[in-house]
Amino acid sequence: MQQTVADFCEAITSAESLRRHGEKYKYPYKKPRFRQVIFTNQGAKLRNGTLLLPCGTAGRLAVRLPKGVAIPGRLMEVRLDYGCVEIVCEIADDARAGGPIIGVDLGVNTVIAATDGAKALLLSGRAIKATLQLRNKRLAEITAKQAHQTPGSRRQRRLQRRKYRMLRHAGNTLRDLCHKATRKIAQAFPNAKAYVGEPFNDAAQTMRRKQAQTVASACNRKIIAMLNYKLAACIEVDEHHTSQTCPVCGARSKHQRTYRCQCGFVAPRDVVGSTNIRTIGLEGAMRPGCGVPNAIQWKHPSKYPGSPPGSHADTMHVARE
Ligand SMILES: [Zn+2]
Repeated sequence: MQQTVADFCEAITSAESLRRHGEKYKYPYKKPRFRQVIFTNQGAKLRNGTLLLPCGTAGRLAVRLPKGVAIPGRLMEVRLDYGCVEIVCEIADDARAGGPIIGVDLGVNTVIAATDGAKALLLSGRAIKATLQLRNKRLAEITAKQAHQTPGSRRQRRLQRRKYRMLRHAGNTLRDLCHKATRKIAQAFPNAKAYVGEPFNDAAQTMRRKQAQTVASACNRKIIAMLNYKLAACIEVDEHHTSQTCPVCGARSKHQRTYRCQCGFVAPRDVVGSTNIRTIGLEGAMRPGCGVPNAIQWKHPSKYPGSPPGSHADTMHVARE
């Protein structure tokens, strides 16, 4: 209650000061359906793996943490949200330092390509792409059927339920695949500092319909957010022409999945992109004559942790000129 009143007063003060300084600030006009409740570390307590949140006369809300989970630092704040609890801890700056510096290229067929200069890891995005395509196809089917029906009728509502069920299912699959893909990166490069090419959806404007759909709905933002907390840091850099420029001689040319430069350099395109992004992150710009990783690994964001039975991650050695 105290926190809610404090939030309300703060909102009024900041709105008034914004309006006084001539900024166009609109007061909220929608009633929120629920709100996050914030407990400071004075209210919330952690006792024997159980989080105790005081709730006034209603008593205390006890949330048991999963077994074996320890909080990495001093408890600072607990946010009680709809269906989840967020715990904010204070971690020393050097706790996550010391990892390699990697370049990360996000794409569609290869969802994440990461390299630390010595080795490269490419994760297939086929499963994500297929899930998205099926979702869009089914959504179109359901919407087309609904168009012929009376709004609010029983059939229309039945289809509406089917639509949301399908969207929820696809969303869960996508989130799962993104988690598995980013987890693989975090395992291969623990505590790494990552440079990521900024996703540009403007590129989708100049493409054909089918390709634009896959590019525009690739879950790049989601993946960046996940990498940001699974790795030490995730910094966005400008990725223009990174997958078109040869890291050895600096010439620019467009290629399909395999990059074949006129200077004789051959590598998968995503490896070229991630190498160039890493160079931009380290030195501010691309430059010819950079090292290209010679150990390249392909993986799938698989169903199983570790290496899945029946699948094999091949390692390829690229001949360097
Ligand atoms: Zn070249």
